[in-house]
Amino acid sequence: MPKCIRCGDMLPPQFMTELDVKVAVDEELKQCVFCKEGISEINMVTATGSKEKYTKNEAKKEYLIFLNMLKEKAETLHKVLEGKAGFEPKTLID
Ligand SMILES: [Zn+2]
Repeated sequence: MPKCIRCGDMLPPQFMTELDVKVAVDEELKQCVFCKEGISEINMVTATGSKEKYTKNEAKKEYLIFLNMLKEKAETLHKVLEGKAGFEPKTLID
């Protein structure tokens, strides 16, 4: 899970960058682009090719929503695999 070593926030991978100096070789330490550049908002190119302005809080919030969605999907998968729920492909797709 990408986590900035400077501010400790978890942000989407596209907001994370390598450290200027490698602190430890065996760890994948990253910093967020906001800490690295000392900025509070950034223009990102979206999947559809348009540019969108993101503040750090927006990026953080959207990532949390995404992670919660993943968690819910994972819980559904676990229930199916443990036989506690029926297999309903639709619940995994949308
Ligand atoms: Zn940071």
